[in-house]
Amino acid sequence: MPSPLEEARYELALANRIIAHEGVLDGFGHVSVRHPTDPGRYLLARSRSPELIEPADIFEFTLDSEPVSAAGVTLYGERVIHGCIYQARPDVNAVCHHHSPSVLPFCVTGVELVPVFHMGAVLGTAAPFWDSRDDFGDTNMLVVKPEEGRSLAKALGSHWMVLMRRHGATIAGTTVRELVFRTVYSHANAEIQLRSMLIGKIAPLSRGEAERTGPYQLQPKPMGRAWEYWTTRLKKSGEVPRARSGGARAGRAAKTRASKTHAAQSPNKLPARKKAARIPAKRSLS
Ligand SMILES: [Zn+2]
Repeated sequence: MPSPLEEARYELALANRIIAHEGVLDGFGHVSVRHPTDPGRYLLARSRSPELIEPADIFEFTLDSEPVSAAGVTLYGERVIHGCIYQARPDVNAVCHHHSPSVLPFCVTGVELVPVFHMGAVLGTAAPFWDSRDDFGDTNMLVVKPEEGRSLAKALGSHWMVLMRRHGATIAGTTVRELVFRTVYSHANAEIQLRSMLIGKIAPLSRGEAERTGPYQLQPKPMGRAWEYWTTRLKKSGEVPRARSGGARAGRAAKTRASKTHAAQSPNKLPARKKAARIPAKRSLS
């Protein structure tokens, strides 16, 4: 039976792939979850595009974003986004950072992103805007220093989504599934707001509507329905993670006899530790 850590790594790999498959994440961006049994750590993949993440790609980090054991593995440069939010927000257990093309116009113009339809209420009543120049002047715009991560976490405050000027957005959730729900539907809300602004004047949900609708959508029933939908879409396209880190196989690969027969011979199916050892020890830019 998989351990809580193995379950968490598999669900995080699924979350990475779902958010990418739904068009929010592309080759860049990342998703993390707080460690299931040690709140002083979190789980995050090595530097790899989210759509490709396997459970074996996922490593443990301290809340200072130092790897617990990932020697020789290339890591995301913007890990402090995750660690600093976990430090600042004990209620947050999952974080996604992305550069969604639907959300970016709001990050470029400063136009306020607001919930404009019922599902969009999961983004909260507001999404604060973080301008890195306020604290740091001109930078390379990546969030890589602890003080930059803390500044972003401060801008997030008690909200669930923060827009990052000319860069992207960072989303928080109390669980991985809530995070995925909020990430996908805030991206959808941004797209719908953009389209609505083309044909008319927009107005957000009233504060009362937003406060009632968001929590309603985040109940187990709607979230379970969405999770089943998204995971089924992944399965249909053959994109579910290859295996749980504990060894139980899942998804299309489980049905493929060749995947067992030739696992030892294929360079693409080498055990994770061997694959990781071939990765040069350097930091990725995003
Ligand atoms: Zn970024």
